[in-house]
Amino acid sequence: MSVVEADDWTLAARCRGMEDALFPDGKDQKRARLVCQGCPVRSTCLAEALDNRIEWGVWGGMTERERRALLRRRPDVTSWRRLLQTAREEHHRVTGVLDDGPLVPSQVDRSVLGNLT
Ligand code: SF4
Repeated sequence: MSVVEADDWTLAARCRGMEDALFPDGKDQKRARLVCQGCPVRSTCLAEALDNRIEWGVWGGMTERERRALLRRRPDVTSWRRLLQTAREEHHRVTGVLDDGPLVPSQVDRSVLGNLT
């Protein structure tokens, strides 16, 4: 796995060069977010949107609506970057797998992010 500096995470984005596809109308965002599957910087992208309260588009595999719901459920989180980094490190420690796979909230440990439903 390549090492991506914190400020350069967009260079590894799976959507690089096709960002316009990630800002469709709300109803099409669930389809658009499929591009995020397997993106190596998914948790960083999601943290960027959550920490900066970015309201538009798909970020980190989550739609606008999903991010709003998550922020409402977890007003106690002061740093999504730190929380997701901790979750990723824990996932790596337990499974030995170094990836962003479990950090999309539909797949993540509910004890970390809470139940979104
Ligand atoms: S998680 Fe999705 S929106 Fe974010 S950089 Fe990766 S492909 Fe792009």
